[in-house]
Amino acid sequence: MRPLQMVDLKQQYQKLKAEIDAAVIGVLESSAFINGPQVQSFTKALAAYNGVKHVIPCANGTDALQIAMMALGLQPGDEVITPSFTYVATTEVIALLKLTPVFVEVDANTFCIDPKVIRNAITPKTKAIVPVHLFGQAANMEEIMKIATEFNLYVIEDNAQAIGCDYTFLDGTMKKTGSIGTIGTTSFFPSKNLGGYGDGGAIMTNDDDLAEKLKMIANHGQKVRYYHEIVGCNSRLDTIQAAVLEIKLPHLEDYISSRRSVASFYDKAFGDHSKITIPFRTPYSRHVFNQYTLILEGLDRNGLHDYLAAQNIPSMIYYPVPAHRQKMFESFNSSNTLLATTDWLTERVISLPMHTEMEEDQLNYITSRVLAFANK
Ligand SMILES: *Cc1c(COP(=O)(O)O)cnc(C)c1O
Repeated sequence: MRPLQMVDLKQQYQKLKAEIDAAVIGVLESSAFINGPQVQSFTKALAAYNGVKHVIPCANGTDALQIAMMALGLQPGDEVITPSFTYVATTEVIALLKLTPVFVEVDANTFCIDPKVIRNAITPKTKAIVPVHLFGQAANMEEIMKIATEFNLYVIEDNAQAIGCDYTFLDGTMKKTGSIGTIGTTSFFPSKNLGGYGDGGAIMTNDDDLAEKLKMIANHGQKVRYYHEIVGCNSRLDTIQAAVLEIKLPHLEDYISSRRSVASFYDKAFGDHSKITIPFRTPYSRHVFNQYTLILEGLDRNGLHDYLAAQNIPSMIYYPVPAHRQKMFESFNSSNTLLATTDWLTERVISLPMHTEMEEDQLNYITSRVLAFANK
């Protein structure tokens, strides 16, 4: 059996090695390291894949969120509603821009922002909602977009973990996550579903004016070189990364199928266990499984983590400390920031190895060890 890893990037690379090596060497030889033609062509291909008018590449998924919030003209003190149960990047940029993060609950089944609590969190200062399509499954965008329209709020979809996820609306319309809100953001961090060989990110929108502004902000606030109209930043996707991503994008659907097969294997093993809850599937979302995350009840979660580690099986706790309990957000928390579901999940979730190169003997080994612990 090959050694187990949370994500096996080496094996995945081996399968495309000839093509990727040639593309990277091509960039080296052209020496067009910044804004080379691959940046344009990859961006165009990604826009087509997502069914969205504009894709603006940038340096990483965190910058993507920051640039999105800057382009919407959000001002210090404006409130942004966000789940507390997410990766730090989502919430960090809100505070960085001196906006006020308003942490709300997630749905215990989907791990995504609970639309029922959004209404109660809205005040006259609320300007935006940032749903996170956590672990690869979409938040309830139908409800979120309804609320956003009713209260005239922007929606920034943090699609870092769910690139390729299809969302089906009640009327049957299907859209890719990231293309539904005002702006969508994503990340090409190596372990994401479409991972580069370094950092990378992208911002997408169907709004022409916003696209123009996003592009300017990512490029020092200029349209014409050396004429800086607004305050921006320097956030680019390297040509080398674009060249790699351009090769990987046509394989994204296969990567998603592999991930979904791994999830089905795990489901079969754990689905009937009374102390293990397998990932819930909503009727509106195709789960693309950036993570496969179980909820354990009546089992020692940290004990399982250590037990698996002792047998060379990696597992991860996403996330051990939710945003509303992070020291960096101390000043934003009041005594009424009580997020019981989020705290409950934080103590019970565990994510198992999930990637595109998993083999049956590995899956058999992992599931048998997890069950051995659960049935002890
Ligand atoms: C990875 C991730 C990001 C940030 O992406 P980077 O490219 O690492 O900056 C943002 N939000 C979520 C939910 C993520 O998982």
